Amino acid sequence: MPKDAEKMEKIVALCKRRGFIFQSSEIYGGINGFWDYGPLGVELKRNIKEAWWQDMVRNPPTGPDGREVQMVGVDCSIIMNPKVWVASGHATGFADPMVDCKTEGCKGRFRADQIAESQCPLKPSKCPGEHDKCQLTEARQFNLMFESHAGAIKDDANKVWLRPETAQGIFANFKNVCDSTRVKIPFGIAQVGKAFRNEINPRNYTFRSREFEQMEIEFFCHDRDAMKWWEWWRDVRINWYKSLGLAGENLKPRNQDDKELAHYSKACTDIEYYFPFADEPQELEGVAHRGCFDLTQHQQHSGKDMTYFDDETKERFLPTVIEPSAGADRSTLAFICEAYTVDPSRPSPELMKFHPRLAPIKAAVFPLVNKDGLPEIAEPLFREIRKRWPAQYDAKQSIGKRYARMDEAGTPYCFTVDGQTKQDGTVTVRDRDTGAQERMDKSRVVDFLNDKLS
Ligand code: ATP
Repeated sequence: MPKDAEKMEKIVALCKRRGFIFQSSEIYGGINGFWDYGPLGVELKRNIKEAWWQDMVRNPPTGPDGREVQMVGVDCSIIMNPKVWVASGHATGFADPMVDCKTEGCKGRFRADQIAESQCPLKPSKCPGEHDKCQLTEARQFNLMFESHAGAIKDDANKVWLRPETAQGIFANFKNVCDSTRVKIPFGIAQVGKAFRNEINPRNYTFRSREFEQMEIEFFCHDRDAMKWWEWWRDVRINWYKSLGLAGENLKPRNQDDKELAHYSKACTDIEYYFPFADEPQELEGVAHRGCFDLTQHQQHSGKDMTYFDDETKERFLPTVIEPSAGADRSTLAFICEAYTVDPSRPSPELMKFHPRLAPIKAAVFPLVNKDGLPEIAEPLFREIRKRWPAQYDAKQSIGKRYARMDEAGTPYCFTVDGQTKQDGTVTVRDRDTGAQERMDKSRVVDFLNDKLS
């Protein structure tokens, strides 16, 4: 059992209780590998995706040579021409080794390469194969792509796949983007969207799901500059996580060794994170040097020219690709685990210390009591705030309980209107992390939040 398994259970309980994450179709017993985001979770995940888009696409850091980095976005269909997946190698190669247990009453199904971390369904203290009743089959390859049919007839000619990654939509549109914009190499194309993988063992909460979202960039450059760009993207991506709160020991970038690297790849760093559910760090994102493998494949399979012509050097070439490929759900889970804090000195000890940019609710407004003219002051203040930021108004229960609710939601600032507000126009602002309170004129609240949240 991982040493922080108990902490993970508490996080999962808080996420359900406060509406971050629910089991999909829970009223029907759920469905393995699928999750729903509740009212707080949807805001959190949206903030993460928006922070990524803002920091990587609209306003990326300055490039390695001190120049602006060109980035554009696309939003491609989930179902594409199946030839895309033949060209990319997914149709034949996107498979995990699977073993079945033939034992009556078990009939478990496991990933052969993860047996050591799996539990025997009949005897969870043992791994599959260790219990004397286990009868495991030989491993066979199981393709992870979900199949469907486009059109009324369910035959092989209409077979399609749900995309297992967003990257291929970017490669397939490489020429369209070059022809429709003024981007010049080096430049990147970004996409955020759903991907589907029929994982053999979905597990560890949302970490390994069958439906998830990716945030991917394909950065096209000249091969001679590729290592420089790879290093730059690797550092940009590590710093992005740090800037939003994964600043401690839990973030662990790891370079893949030669045995792990794909045959076409010169370098890949997995940005890993110590989740409480495992003793080893787990992948949040891979930053890979992919050579010109993908464009070469699509050129061969589509018969279309995928080369790039540089008008300055008059050179025609297939660009090399650097791919920072992140999971939105895994990042969300990492930000949740990192934010989860227990402060035994508080009456309600659990709080979520989200970075203010990610916090689902930025501010809350409370009248100390729901009478005596206080709501008449608090409500307009709340309306002013909610024009700009997600905010909540709460007039129920004791003030301590209201603070505790906001601490669990990760709301960085709570403003309270009390008797003194009627006399001098000041309100208290309470800081989530320290619990410290100070008074400020209510006319300063919007500027205060502007400073803190921007
Ligand atoms: P893993 O080895 O954990 O299966 P991967 O190396 O196959 O991951 P990639 O194909 O590189 O993952 O996908 C890029 C990112 O997409 C991953 O770093 C991860 O954040 C996310 N991702 C991949 N598979 C899943 C999944 N089943 N559930 C949630 N997120 C996923």
